[in-house]
Amino acid sequence: MSDSDCIFCKIVAGEIPCAKLYEDDSALAFLDIGPVAEGHALLIPKTHYVTLDEMPADAAADLLRSLPAVGGAVAEALGCEGFNVLQNNGAVAQQLVGHVHFHIIPRSVGDEFHFNWPAGAYEPGRMDEIAEAVRSRLA
Ligand code: 5GP
Ligand code: ZN
Repeated sequence: MSDSDCIFCKIVAGEIPCAKLYEDDSALAFLDIGPVAEGHALLIPKTHYVTLDEMPADAAADLLRSLPAVGGAVAEALGCEGFNVLQNNGAVAQQLVGHVHFHIIPRSVGDEFHFNWPAGAYEPGRMDEIAEAVRSRLA
């Protein structure tokens, strides 16, 4: 349910304060303490899961039910034209806090938040190979 060493579980329990944006039975949204843009928010499950793939489908659905409204409200409150949703799983993916969280990052023209997006290309056959490897794990 919760992990006594987890900072986000402590926020859920009210042991650490947060600037709360939204709460329901399954989810909590609050402002990120180190914003990459004003209004940068986090949406988390109240139950402790380290990574997204650990979550039962129903728990993930419960968490994400509020994402459209929270994302829209954050962008509108900050007067932004759009927002990014980011979700890191594992240290290699830059996950620092080991409790599932979705970053909601309001975006404005000319802001300071940039992606390195090194779009590449597949060698012939490799795309089908990868798709089959994934499909076989979902079957
Ligand atoms: P990650 O790199 O794990 O995807 O992001 C973790 C995020 O949690 C960071 O953006 C960081 O600023 C935020 N964060 C870490 N500790 C706290 C905290 O105690 N309160 C709040 N509001 N945000 C936190
Ligand atoms: Zn936790």
